[in-house]
Amino acid sequence: MQGRLVYPVAHSPLIDKYRGQYTNAQLVIDEKKNRIFIMVQVNLPDKEVMKKEDVKVLGIDRGIKNIAVLSDNTFFNSKHLREVKGRYQYLKRRLQHSGTRSAHRKLKKLSGRERRFVRDINHTISKNTVSLPYDVFALEALNPAYMRENVQCKKIRKMLGSWSPSELQRFMEYKAEDAGKTVIYVNQKFTSQKCSKCGYVSKDNRHGSIFKCKNCGFELNADLNASRNIEVLGKSEYFRLMSTSQSLRFNESPLTCGEKNSNKLRSFS
Ligand SMILES: [Zn+2]
Repeated sequence: MQGRLVYPVAHSPLIDKYRGQYTNAQLVIDEKKNRIFIMVQVNLPDKEVMKKEDVKVLGIDRGIKNIAVLSDNTFFNSKHLREVKGRYQYLKRRLQHSGTRSAHRKLKKLSGRERRFVRDINHTISKNTVSLPYDVFALEALNPAYMRENVQCKKIRKMLGSWSPSELQRFMEYKAEDAGKTVIYVNQKFTSQKCSKCGYVSKDNRHGSIFKCKNCGFELNADLNASRNIEVLGKSEYFRLMSTSQSLRFNESPLTCGEKNSNKLRSFS
């Protein structure tokens, strides 16, 4: 009634990237949480299909001791994360013990700072990874239900606190999208048991952090071996999806994991 009103909106960088190309927009009002969302839609041309030998795929293994190991031999270990988390835990315990109102305030502040610290770590890892000269980034599919219930995931939470592999995954996805690259998900089955050199699969190939093949004797850091298997799986999955994407409906995203990938998931160790 009083003319146009202008409000600032918190948004992802993608919104700016595609400004002017929106084909549809929808206002969603969440009365319960007293929030308003704007959903915008853009139509993008299909990505050009590259020749198989030209596509560069990077495999990424996620875990506890190493947050991420890339198949190009890059390791992101969790040492710093664990140390800082330990410091926060100590401070939080002391504040909880005192129980005063000011302690409660400080506690809240501390949790916020801890969350931001973890988020920064995930931003750094995803940024550094996506900027590498690869077209496709292959990760193991993580099932949300598995993440909640699995013992190994509880172990992650205990060891690494609020760090979560799914936040890293989200950051990877939007940074890759922004760079015109692709994140792809593979079935993690056997990625930690399979020899990345000869393909032999056995539980006995793995000795803690060392992988030693019972068949060909190949020896490598276990997480690095897994990331190389993920790379190979990622490449074939990428081409499988590229060849079937023509028959997918518009609302089926060919490049994200579906239920079919949610079989028993590999344990983190
Ligand atoms: Zn082997």
